[in-house]
Amino acid sequence: MATEVLKLTAQIVISHASMSELTPKELVEEIKDIYNLLSSLEGEITMAEAVPMGKGKEAAVVKKPSIPLDEIVKEKYVVCLECGKKMRTLKAHLRKAHKLVPAEYYRQYGLDPKKFPLVCKEYSEQRRKLAKEKGLGERGFRRKAKTT
Ligand SMILES: [Zn+2]
Repeated sequence: MATEVLKLTAQIVISHASMSELTPKELVEEIKDIYNLLSSLEGEITMAEAVPMGKGKEAAVVKKPSIPLDEIVKEKYVVCLECGKKMRTLKAHLRKAHKLVPAEYYRQYGLDPKKFPLVCKEYSEQRRKLAKEKGLGERGFRRKAKTT
């Protein structure tokens, strides 16, 4: 039924537009007016329902974490947002338990990888120290920002 109304609306607007000069804005207004008029006459759906803005659904792809974000990266553990488990590193767990790669995990929750590492603070601290002791910090891991 709605498409029938749309067809009718188009016909009316086209015949009107061919007779009088309408700006694009006036044209849009007229389409809305006529569509609403025809719809209400027919007891049909409203304009708003017929043409959804299409925003709400895409936005819903990002899941809302059930755990407060400042609680997920701690000294001794990181929390998996999928199942709430606490562990020292999440990467292997995400792959095994949830079949997720880190990039997907971050995208699902709209997280910033820099702010939310997949390892606990203690672990990344240890890695940093180890790298320093081995002299890796000097050779291979120099930050790009410093060299440029
Ligand atoms: Zn999990």
